[in-house]
Amino acid sequence: MEIAFHGAARTVTGSKHLLKLPGNLNILLDCGMFQGLGRRTYSLNSDFGFDPKDVSVVLLSHAHIDHSGLLPKLVKEGFNGKIYCTAATLELAEILLYDSASIQEHDKTEGHDPLYTSEDVKLTLESFQIIGYDEWIMIEKNVKVMYTPTGHLVGSAAIHLEIGSSEDRTTLSYSADIGRAHHPLLKPASEFPRSEYLIVESTYGDKHHPLPGSAVDLLLQQIERTCIQQKGQLIIAAFSVGRTQELLFILNQLELEKRLPAIPYFVDSPLGARATRVMKKYTDEFNDSLQKILLIDDDPFSFEGLKWVVESEDSKRLVDYSEPCVIIASSGTGDAGRIRHHIHHKIGDAANTVLFSGYCGPESTGGQLLAGQKTIEYGKDIIDVRASVVQLPGMSAHGDCDDICSFLKCQDPSAVRGVFLVHGEYSAQLSLAQKLKNKDFYPVHIPEPHEHFSLKLSKSIKVA
Ligand SMILES: [Zn+2]
Repeated sequence: MEIAFHGAARTVTGSKHLLKLPGNLNILLDCGMFQGLGRRTYSLNSDFGFDPKDVSVVLLSHAHIDHSGLLPKLVKEGFNGKIYCTAATLELAEILLYDSASIQEHDKTEGHDPLYTSEDVKLTLESFQIIGYDEWIMIEKNVKVMYTPTGHLVGSAAIHLEIGSSEDRTTLSYSADIGRAHHPLLKPASEFPRSEYLIVESTYGDKHHPLPGSAVDLLLQQIERTCIQQKGQLIIAAFSVGRTQELLFILNQLELEKRLPAIPYFVDSPLGARATRVMKKYTDEFNDSLQKILLIDDDPFSFEGLKWVVESEDSKRLVDYSEPCVIIASSGTGDAGRIRHHIHHKIGDAANTVLFSGYCGPESTGGQLLAGQKTIEYGKDIIDVRASVVQLPGMSAHGDCDDICSFLKCQDPSAVRGVFLVHGEYSAQLSLAQKLKNKDFYPVHIPEPHEHFSLKLSKSIKVA
């Protein structure tokens, strides 16, 4: 038995981990797209590092494109098994995958052929199979799977496997993306059964998030400074699924507290509109404080001044709008989608602010602007950066190092035979590895891209 890490290895995107079991049974944990890695991105996405025809089944943790985005390419290249995920993940993945295909079909600025088309997405969705939380199901002979919530996104799950016969068996858990103990909308991650092998995310393995609630005040400060004092526009880069709804929830909260400045708030995202409708359906994943708010406010994602921009013509017209306002658009790193034209048309004006609401890898547009890059390319134009460029701390949907450690609290380190850190920059992984070693987890591996490890099936202990 073997595991190979074909993505999110020493980086935060492209999650793809291939588990090879005896009898030619190959289970792929996520099939994510690499994003925001500059010119390398397309070639990284072009080659899986394995043959899609050899994959027997896919276990999808959640809908974010860095976990789901290459599923249509996998199907296009010969995968014909089932793709398991939760019901909410299926609904959100449908929205995100069609959007991803459409971006690739229409946004050929880099001159590359699309990795897949809407037709491939349609075929892919036919292979999806819904799995509920907290129930073991047999997906293949001698392979049982259970999904548990991680509080990262509606429908997000950690994936647990029991592999082998009663004679020789092992257990493996894949954290996928771990939410925060204090997510603004969702319940925290659940405990899960003890496993011998753990694949754990490490995005913020070296960080402590600020206290929850600070994002509310910081966002209000940015609106007041930019839109009221400077009469400028606040351009917010936010992923349409997850982060956009969290921002709307914060703005709604400011309205409930009568602190929200009376200006227009545009959400330039047809995707965000659809994702918001899906998220509203899964109220049982909402945390206690949101459940209480629902008792007094039946739509916690809507407030006075909110305007949805759906048609692309309206989005183009919004670029010419010059009054003080807030514009929220995707993607969160500024590398794709409608946010690009807003950033490029507004970043040259010192009255404006460009705000990144989530994690931006060092090679992404957001990462480079936040590091102080003075100019930005847009087509053939080179634009001077005059607007303020800021990040909104305290908004991450990923847990920090304490959240990751408390996620693992339900495990017995002495029974763990190996931890593999994925989905993090190497420096964050080194720091988290040390913390886990201090908690007696051993060995802790930091796989390189495409690195293989062999896993052992152990003799089970007979219980009388
Ligand atoms: Zn995610």
